[in-house]
Amino acid sequence: MSRTPIIAGNWKMHNTIAEATALVAALKEAGNKNHAEIIIAPSYTALAVAAHTAKGSEIKIAAQDVHWEDKGAFTSAVSPVQAKDAGATHTIIGHSERRSVFGDTDEILNKKVAAALRHNLTVIFCVGETLEEREANKTLDVIAAQLENGLKGFTAEQLKGLVIAYEPVWAIGTGKTATPEQAQEVHAAIRAQLAKTYGDEFAQATRILYGGSVKDTNVDEIMAKPDVDGALVGGQSLIADKFARIINFN
Ligand code: PEP
Repeated sequence: MSRTPIIAGNWKMHNTIAEATALVAALKEAGNKNHAEIIIAPSYTALAVAAHTAKGSEIKIAAQDVHWEDKGAFTSAVSPVQAKDAGATHTIIGHSERRSVFGDTDEILNKKVAAALRHNLTVIFCVGETLEEREANKTLDVIAAQLENGLKGFTAEQLKGLVIAYEPVWAIGTGKTATPEQAQEVHAAIRAQLAKTYGDEFAQATRILYGGSVKDTNVDEIMAKPDVDGALVGGQSLIADKFARIINFN
């Protein structure tokens, strides 16, 4: 089955409103020779302006996270209703920085997935092992548990359209990239787990992105692997010409 590739940019805590506007405007001119789905995840402050600037283009907007409640006394949090209102169609959930810096547990992430699905936001669910876990040969077990716990309780029908991002923690923002073979091994294991849990049709339709120091210089070899359906890009998604080259991978 052929899956439409996804190239997603996670801007993290970068870009003012003016910078976000300029970057989206530049990306609108980037071309898209692979007919990839292009998604960018700005900070909440720039969600609306990014969505407005992206209008009329193929660029879709993601929140970097959402809270599990629709509204309430949760100072500083942003709900899926608010993210959607600002123009997001997608949300990242479970990014390793959310897990390690902000303490998002599997249980919290599971509630966030529920909240996103409740409001028809497409979930980009991140999983990945630390260096310590990889060196202890625990990579596949760690990822299996993150998937099982984070997605617990949902049917294939509810999860339709789900996107998974495999992001080895040791490769995020470090300049170290998993080899295409390492990425393929984990992606194939994720797809096998999805098949076992939700059926083969679901597994074959689900896009699995690789993230972790994806660059204009290594995207082609990573995208060549059969179970790699796209990339989630941090650093280089902030640089228009680099991200444009990633979108137009060979
Ligand atoms: C990320 O933030 O999801 C990421 C993969 O970052 P980088 O590309 O900078 O490693």
